[in-house]
Amino acid sequence: MKPRRSTRQVMVGGVPIGGDAPITIQSMTNTHTYEVDRTVAQIRALADGGCDLVRISVPTRRDTAALPEILRQASVPIVADVHFHYERALEAVEAGVHKIRLNPGNIADRKQVDRVIAACRERNVPIRVGVNEGSIVERKDKNVRAYEKALLAEGHNRLVDLMLRKLEEYLRIFDANDFHDVVLAAKSPDARLVIAAYRAIAERFDYPLHLGVTHAGPVETGRIRSVAALAALLADGIGDTLRISYAADPLEEVADAKELLCSLGLRDREEPELIACPTCGRLEIDLVKLVAGVREKLASIKAPIKVAVMGCVVNGPGEAEGADVAVCAGKGCGVIYVRGEQTRTVPEAEMLDTLYEECVKFAAEIKRH
Ligand code: SF4
Repeated sequence: MKPRRSTRQVMVGGVPIGGDAPITIQSMTNTHTYEVDRTVAQIRALADGGCDLVRISVPTRRDTAALPEILRQASVPIVADVHFHYERALEAVEAGVHKIRLNPGNIADRKQVDRVIAACRERNVPIRVGVNEGSIVERKDKNVRAYEKALLAEGHNRLVDLMLRKLEEYLRIFDANDFHDVVLAAKSPDARLVIAAYRAIAERFDYPLHLGVTHAGPVETGRIRSVAALAALLADGIGDTLRISYAADPLEEVADAKELLCSLGLRDREEPELIACPTCGRLEIDLVKLVAGVREKLASIKAPIKVAVMGCVVNGPGEAEGADVAVCAGKGCGVIYVRGEQTRTVPEAEMLDTLYEECVKFAAEIKRH
């Protein structure tokens, strides 16, 4: 892991992004924003799941009209996602949102962007300025396969250059307004391009960076694609806030973003960490079922305990001794460990409940201290 890149810092409501602030997790609601109750419920669920900032789209006047009530009830800072209509940005700032996401490339007139910047300056509202591969590439070549092959041959340099040039062009507007409460993003569905683009941006600018792989797809594949790109950047010390995005329930995005940051030691765990043997022919119990059961039960525990579920004596005792609570299985039974010490042996049918009871006790103890 490389040391974190030093950047400017912006404040989004009470949450800092960049500088020495912890890396924040973002997600986005998928309700109609004008449906206030549903939107607020989702914002709260995301916040409870560990989301630090929630972005909501405001495509219509009806959506921005709902913002004052949403902001009154929201428990985390809210980012308004604006495309095409600068009026929505002005209305959102007026309503009190904490940050705006704006793509100057899809606002018709430079003067309109200037007006949004002036409104944001007045209210200390930062702006995330982003480029997406999809919005900057003119696919004159209708043969997409040939086009992509050509890009790959060039190591994506052409697209990275294009993204950088676009960002520079946008930033000139912000510089001319002497406005620097800016967060930058450059997203693509291609993990390799995301890595290359953010590395180039990190070298060129000292603004905080919002990481993400866009249009990553469903959870099963989007998860791999997102982690491939974001883990490489985070290990390089690049990235100040991130959104993992899926075509799915946004709560999944937050859970995975948290796991990514915790796995890299960039966020402290607040929930149990589950270690499990990868299974092999030495198993004498249904370990897959046991692990699924443990995972489900651990969801109710909010404490950073390390739990190991191991299948045999090859690596089992070592992992079990290093965990807070563990089970190391044998033939139809398992040895329960607490703080690395063997406490008792239970039959397979009792393993899940016994392990869970010990986890609950352990969690209560660490909360007391
Ligand atoms: S812990 Fe034992 S059962 Fe599990 S994968 Fe390792 S050797 Fe196989």
